[in-house]
Amino acid sequence: MKVAVFSTKPYDEQFLQRANEESHQHELVFFEARLNEATAPLAKGFGAVCVFVNDQVNSAVLNVLAEGGTRAIALRCAGFNNVDLKAAERLGIDVVRVPAYSPYAVAEHTVALMLTLNRQIHRAYHRIRDGNFALDGLLGFDLHGRTVGVIGTGQIGVEVVRIMRGFGCRVLCHDLKPNSDAEQLGADYVPLDQLFGQSDIVTLHCPLTPETHHLIDADAIGKMKKGVMVINTSRGAIVDTSAMIEGLKSGHVGYLGLDVYEEEGDLFFEDLSNIVLQDDVFARLLTFPNVVITGHQAFFTRHALESIAHTTLGNLTALESNGQCENRVTG
Ligand code: NAD
Repeated sequence: MKVAVFSTKPYDEQFLQRANEESHQHELVFFEARLNEATAPLAKGFGAVCVFVNDQVNSAVLNVLAEGGTRAIALRCAGFNNVDLKAAERLGIDVVRVPAYSPYAVAEHTVALMLTLNRQIHRAYHRIRDGNFALDGLLGFDLHGRTVGVIGTGQIGVEVVRIMRGFGCRVLCHDLKPNSDAEQLGADYVPLDQLFGQSDIVTLHCPLTPETHHLIDADAIGKMKKGVMVINTSRGAIVDTSAMIEGLKSGHVGYLGLDVYEEEGDLFFEDLSNIVLQDDVFARLLTFPNVVITGHQAFFTRHALESIAHTTLGNLTALESNGQCENRVTG
């Protein structure tokens, strides 16, 4: 299949090319540009388009792709909130994704954020390099015995449960469908308000849907314990960033760890170090000593990239050979 790969970074090309040489025979053409209405014509004549989290696959873009002969969208990620599935279906375009690649990568990064914030590793790193060996301001807490609230206990959430149980934490979960693996690990499913009220750390692992958009808003923050740590490695818009900033300013939120951000599409995955930051909300987040932000890198391990590349190309091979794919997503 002729595949137009959008939002290509050097590591995408490296891992996709290697997987293609090992077990597939697609014709891959790499574009650095992000997919949007302006760049969609680049895909003219390509049977498939391969996209990532911040590519825009809305109805206008899908119309252009369909006119150019594209019949498949291969997401090289798990989330598909950036795709208008109804429009794709209407246009006869199959959408496939990578439902699982390495839940460990994201779960481990989630815990890295928790540990960094709690033990102030981000601040200690700079202090030591500056010859400042004072400990004032770096006081942490034992994770052992603390309560962690996990919202969304699918593949990633359950790995977070496993790790936090290993630390000796009590784990409370909330999900539309309880996962018996989490229960077997000793976690308890509780209503959302109880999770908010009892958790020292709240971590988000549900998808972004109309129901979870701004799930963490001023009301939810108000129900949380004073000094709570909130971690979001799922999708930015699950958190109302302005409400979170108010929570941080008042001290109600004691720590915030983000790998995703509501408006990350304008920032993440690019080197903008020579450009004046225009996003005042993001700029405010950067001023807090108790906020750690990474740029959507939770998935970014060698193992995950190998797995993503193989599944993405395998999805296209399956569609090409019999029109079927177990990783198809529908609206
Ligand atoms: P999954 O589908 O295995 O699990 C998601 C869980 O959330 C499911 O159990 C589902 O029932 C639950 N859920 C859905 N709606 C809910 C709601 N309203 N309230 C509570 N729970 C709800 O997905 P996963 O592989 O565990 O991934 C979770 C999310 O992580 C993805 O949707 C994606 O947005 C994000 N993600 C981020 C990165 C990253 O690099 N930061 C990488 C991969 C995935």
